Amino acid sequence: MPSEKSPEGFKKNTSGKRLSSIIMNDYLTLHKKASEGAFVVWIAIIVPAEIFSGFDNVVYAVPESHAALCAGKGVGPLLCEKAEQLGYSTDLCSYARIDLGTAFGGAESSPTFGLPKPDLIISNNNNCSLLVKWFDVYHRAWGVPHVLLDIPFCYENQSRADFEYIMAQFGGLIRTIEDLSGQKFDINKARESVKLSSRALKEWKRFLSFATHRPSGITAFDSFVQMAPILTSRGTEKLAEHYRLLADETEEQVKNGIFPVPGERYRLLWDNIAPWHQLRKMSSRLASLDANITSASYTYCIGALEGEYEPYEFDGKDPLQWLARLQNFSVCPHGLNLRGRAMKEVIGRNAIDGVVFASNRSCKVYSLMQMDQMRHMKEELGIPCIMIDVDHADVRKYSEETTFTRLEALIEMIDKKRSGAPA
Ligand code: SF4
Repeated sequence: MPSEKSPEGFKKNTSGKRLSSIIMNDYLTLHKKASEGAFVVWIAIIVPAEIFSGFDNVVYAVPESHAALCAGKGVGPLLCEKAEQLGYSTDLCSYARIDLGTAFGGAESSPTFGLPKPDLIISNNNNCSLLVKWFDVYHRAWGVPHVLLDIPFCYENQSRADFEYIMAQFGGLIRTIEDLSGQKFDINKARESVKLSSRALKEWKRFLSFATHRPSGITAFDSFVQMAPILTSRGTEKLAEHYRLLADETEEQVKNGIFPVPGERYRLLWDNIAPWHQLRKMSSRLASLDANITSASYTYCIGALEGEYEPYEFDGKDPLQWLARLQNFSVCPHGLNLRGRAMKEVIGRNAIDGVVFASNRSCKVYSLMQMDQMRHMKEELGIPCIMIDVDHADVRKYSEETTFTRLEALIEMIDKKRSGAPA
């Protein structure tokens, strides 16, 4: 496809280079510290990693984040196949298959040479129960203790009872790590880490705010790429500083008239996990149509309370309370109303012309209610919407031509709406 108007995004600028070095350094440090005897924890994305900063020598790895990196680097199908050869179904989430393929099929294909073996595994059922089963495979195979944080789904804002239930589990988790690692938890250290996370998330939202500009100062694809260190560097000065600079650099680009899609005529919103294997291709091809996916529910939910957009700031008091309150930040545990509330706010705030609901073969919890949500958005806002089929990490379940036929249909619907013709 023509790529004259291909967005450079943040790939070649300072933020892109700094991002690569942070990620590379995070994985190198993880392997090094593990080899030197650090206590290694594997966690689900939602597990609050700032807790580990309260210990002297506990390091963590996020298998989902590693799987996304593998998919982005093009080795997703290879690692999925390794898991499938071991008997894991192709219906399983592709993150799980990539991770199981790496753990049992050999880590040499992974860009980070896999993850160091864990001393403890912590899952969290807030996003999905599949992850609990996936992590339990390692518990059975390697005999590693597995702690499950049981975080209730939320159809409204978090209840007091749920908050207290989560707080009690954090207490239990801390005692478990103390017992297993022989290290003492220091809440003051965890508080410092939470302060830095809160600062980083504020800067993250400042970065996303450039999607309000016309043309947009960012693409959602930039935000997909740039979210990685939230998972590998949580609660660090490095993370807070990276997002401050990222927001500053984006502001500077906007001031200088540098935009990822300069001829932007169609501003779209993406609903679901990033299509990691298509970032460059999809953004370039959309740009050639003067279309920009400027916003995504997957990245605007980060750092916010249920159904909200603005970051939930830390008040400097109890770090565990802040972490417990934010346990519902991601979209998966939300019911229709909460999802719709945040989506409507972003559609208005960022002047969105159309919504792309990406039905994800792997992530059923994200996708199940999209058909209803699409109907709501069409009826309530009169906004054109389409549904496409993707798998976030397994390119074998994705068809570029079918997807673009629908994306082009969305653009036609937007044009029709603008011309006042009946839809
Ligand atoms: S099914 Fe969805 S929520 Fe569950 S592990 Fe996979 S991507 Fe995450």
